[in-house]
Amino acid sequence: MSRAAAVRRKAVSPRSLTMPIETLNLPAIAGGKPLFDQLLPIASPEGLPSDEFLADVRRIIASRYLTNGSFVREFEAVCADYLGVPHCIAAANCTSALMLVLKVLDLNGEVILPSFTFHATAHAVAWNGLTPVFTDCDRDTFCLDPDSVRGRVSKKTAAILPVHLFGVPVAVGQFEKLAADLRVPVIYDAAHALGTRINGARLGNFGAAEIFSLSPTKLLVAGEGGLISTRDAALARRLRSARNYGDAGDHDPDVIGLNARMTEFHAALALRGLAGLEDRIARRNEVRLLYERRLRRVPGLRFQHVPHDAHSACKDFAIIVDEETFGRGRDWLASALAKENIEVRRYFWPPVHRQKLYRRVWDGRPLPVTDEISDRVLCLPIYSSLRNADVENVCDAIIRASEYARGPFAHPRPGLERTV
Ligand SMILES: *Cc1c(COP(=O)(O)O)cnc(C)c1O
Repeated sequence: MSRAAAVRRKAVSPRSLTMPIETLNLPAIAGGKPLFDQLLPIASPEGLPSDEFLADVRRIIASRYLTNGSFVREFEAVCADYLGVPHCIAAANCTSALMLVLKVLDLNGEVILPSFTFHATAHAVAWNGLTPVFTDCDRDTFCLDPDSVRGRVSKKTAAILPVHLFGVPVAVGQFEKLAADLRVPVIYDAAHALGTRINGARLGNFGAAEIFSLSPTKLLVAGEGGLISTRDAALARRLRSARNYGDAGDHDPDVIGLNARMTEFHAALALRGLAGLEDRIARRNEVRLLYERRLRRVPGLRFQHVPHDAHSACKDFAIIVDEETFGRGRDWLASALAKENIEVRRYFWPPVHRQKLYRRVWDGRPLPVTDEISDRVLCLPIYSSLRNADVENVCDAIIRASEYARGPFAHPRPGLERTV
């Protein structure tokens, strides 16, 4: 134990206080009783059907079509209708869908993307032999910053790959303009953003394509799954071949494809989950606002900004911890909340350009906003089944951690030390 920690420990020992310790609102990390008896998970798969899904399974088995059948076709049609986009292509997962979109666009050179994202975004670029050019994000929305992107454009720029982060849409208007000016495609990693709206319209209609994830922590769950939306009929046709080994049906592939087909079972699961998606997004927004209302006054915390014309799908809820003002850093708060039995995540840390696979690929140009956000970000539990009482309890845990971090126990004053 460090000297400072020893002092801290002594300072809160009952003997040193006139008040009995149990009346103090001490965080669990300082010896208080954890606010949760059982672990509160950070995420929980949503929209899972019960018995009706078993009937779907029986139908699939009876049909003898386990993949590429009527459930996948129906899922694609329902999604196209939901997103208001002409073409949807289902895939085995979002990562392979991203890989295939970059592949069929037949790109060469550099792809501009954020570093503050999940590493799969970068994997899709690297798998295609393209060079990732990591670019800074916006301080408020945490999404790829269009102005920073302009500074990274070169003759080798082949595409731009923004990410609608945590459900908040990137500045699509600016990216669409940039794409037109530069005549390069924009492909959106929309893994977090199924159901996100801008000016009332759902994402899915922007750029060359947008790619959604249907894995268990995302908005709509297929078990594993991905979905590509595009306005481009020719691109949609090529993608249908590409997910089927590149084979359009004549056994003479046009592209080195993958087997990235969605199975009928996964499509059936996702179809059932679509029914309640809007309600789940509305509930997630309630949870977000509940957090923000309670935590707004905590010194040293701020939140991701949702632009006024956007309705976020709220895939994640992140706080940014400023060590100076909060009294302790993000990592301390993460430990403090873990001791309260609250599952939290430093998401995304480390940023992709600092991960071992990509350190060597990174061009070394500084990404100050990315580094700052990544060092300070902490994601809290959010899902539609989260109860208000649990949200309040998480807030209580953060508030008492904050009071402790700024209070006399964390920074013992000389007088208090001497009384021990
Ligand atoms: C989850 C995720 C992916 C990958 O999705 P899978 O369906 O798991 O392959 C890609 N990009 C981002 C930003 C993600 O969060």
